[in-house]
Amino acid sequence: MGRPVYLKGIMDKQKLRWNGWGLREAPDTLGDKAEGIWNWLGAYTGLGTLPHTPALPLEKITLPNTRLSGEELQTLEGMLSRDKVKTDKYERAYHARGRSYHDMLHLRGGCLEHAPDAVVYPQTIEEIEAVIRYADANALALVPYGGGSSVVGGVTPLLRAGQRAVVTVDMALMSRILEIDKHTMTARIETGIYGPELERQLQAEGVTLGHYPQSFEYSTLGGWIATRGAGHQSNKYGKAEDWLVSARVVTPRGIWNTEDFPKSAAGPMLRDLTPGSEGVFGIIVDARVHIREVPEEKEYRAWFFQDFDSAVQATRLLLQHEIQTAMIRVSDINETFFYSVMHGGAEVAENGPMGFCLMLVGFEGTTEQVAHQRSRAEAILSQCGGADMGGSMGKLWLTTRFETPYLRDPMLDHGLGVDTVETAVDWNRLPQLHRNVSAALKEALSRHNPNPGAKGLAMAHVSHSYWNGASLYFTFVFPRTPQAEIEQWLAIKREVSDAIVENGGTISHHHGTGTDHLPWMAREKGPIAYGMLKSLKADLDPNGTMNPGKLIEF
Ligand SMILES: Cc1cc2nc3c(=O)[nH]c(=O)nc-3n(C[C@H](O)[C@H](O)[C@H](O)COP(=O)(O)OP(=O)(O)OC[C@H]3O[C@@H](n4cnc5c(N)ncnc54)[C@H](O)[C@@H]3O)c2cc1C
Repeated sequence: MGRPVYLKGIMDKQKLRWNGWGLREAPDTLGDKAEGIWNWLGAYTGLGTLPHTPALPLEKITLPNTRLSGEELQTLEGMLSRDKVKTDKYERAYHARGRSYHDMLHLRGGCLEHAPDAVVYPQTIEEIEAVIRYADANALALVPYGGGSSVVGGVTPLLRAGQRAVVTVDMALMSRILEIDKHTMTARIETGIYGPELERQLQAEGVTLGHYPQSFEYSTLGGWIATRGAGHQSNKYGKAEDWLVSARVVTPRGIWNTEDFPKSAAGPMLRDLTPGSEGVFGIIVDARVHIREVPEEKEYRAWFFQDFDSAVQATRLLLQHEIQTAMIRVSDINETFFYSVMHGGAEVAENGPMGFCLMLVGFEGTTEQVAHQRSRAEAILSQCGGADMGGSMGKLWLTTRFETPYLRDPMLDHGLGVDTVETAVDWNRLPQLHRNVSAALKEALSRHNPNPGAKGLAMAHVSHSYWNGASLYFTFVFPRTPQAEIEQWLAIKREVSDAIVENGGTISHHHGTGTDHLPWMAREKGPIAYGMLKSLKADLDPNGTMNPGKLIEF
């Protein structure tokens, strides 16, 4: 598998897919297993031979003309410099959407009506201030942009009533590590830095942030904070809101330096409003974050459980016995089956689901800590009925985990849809939420299916776990409805999201709200809290310049 490509530390977007995931030249993840797997998926979904449904090439797509006048573009160029203001087709298409399934339908189908009118690449805080001031005074909307890996419509360039054009502010040139302080074990970092470059520079100094979302290779520090993201190893390193110490945000009202104390009782800590702010208050330009020593050892082991509820029970006990894991990931029976077919090939599918659930547990720390925590975990997991399968599956997962997102593009090329939804819920309600949402998904996938008798696959795993509950992550694969793919997706998304909320889950544990979860926000927050969010927006961004249409109806 190739790795991200950097030009002087900056991601080279020409090497990336503008309408898909990751590197253009990435090898086929399925390799020689591909044909068998497509045949199996065709038979499973009832489609028979899967159709060939390639994406439209950029050459065949027409973009709307930029709505910015020559004079306006010149003014932006004067603030930044000519090469930092882009209006070419590739840059506008690349930034037209995020990377959700919904986005892919638009990008692959050539529906780029929301392409930004320009993309700017500021390099200093002064440049960002100038761009925000200008946009605010001239009825332009701004979209803060990190890696563009949002899966909730977070970077779609939208206009508010009365606005004339949208400018996407790509943060890629603001990617320096400003300070590493090993005494407080914090680092101050510009937010446009991509995951691999951030870890490369930190680890050269013997430290790590430890934030590895599945999108790690193509997402940035700013995006992780702005969405309250979670890395795979959040049990050890925390979610963005846990490792964020302080942030500097340029808002239309001026620069907001959040509190920078370890803790404070001077009223509520308003810093906590930056994680999850999704660019609607301003642009986070740099942040101080917790760092840890690079772990001496990483050990990832697998356990099998006969049913999902026992594995969930074991997860709860690991948490509540304060056993320090870096990650606990529990796949249900369907997901265990699906990934064994993806790894092992179609022969594995012949006998149907194996009837067990895979739990992967990761330990990171000194050799001594890893051995100690592992032996404490082993005792609990075996009491709960877990069978220790050793380290090979854990090692395989750890070394290939960033390849999984590459499966989506070929699925889309074969007439299939694939999407995910995620939530968090307390331990009392988790088993029921898992059952009911899986059932709702299954029903939605058959109801909104073009071919009578065809069906989709729905699967789930526990992805992040806490003292009082955990996050559940559902994946679904289904035959697409030709000519009505977006309507099909909207219907499935609405039904499954309603099921999540009715079963006590949050509308998002780590993807955020963007445009796609907006319809569920007012109910989740309640009228008082939602009103507070709106007032905050009105105060910091009275003209609605910053990322309109996301997070808050305003
Ligand atoms: C294949 C795949 C796997 C994923 N896996 C995970 C996962 O494991 N964990 C997880 O948490 N998420 C995951 N995501 C979702 C996505 O990667 C995260 O939301 C990520 O945090 C977004 O980072 P980004 O830099 O790409 O941000 P973008 O997509 O560019 O932006 C996301 C939001 O943040 C805002 N924003 C970005 N930068 C700034 C800034 N500097 N200041 C203010 N606002 C800003 C944007 O306006 C937007 O609202 C995944 C997505 C994909 C496509």
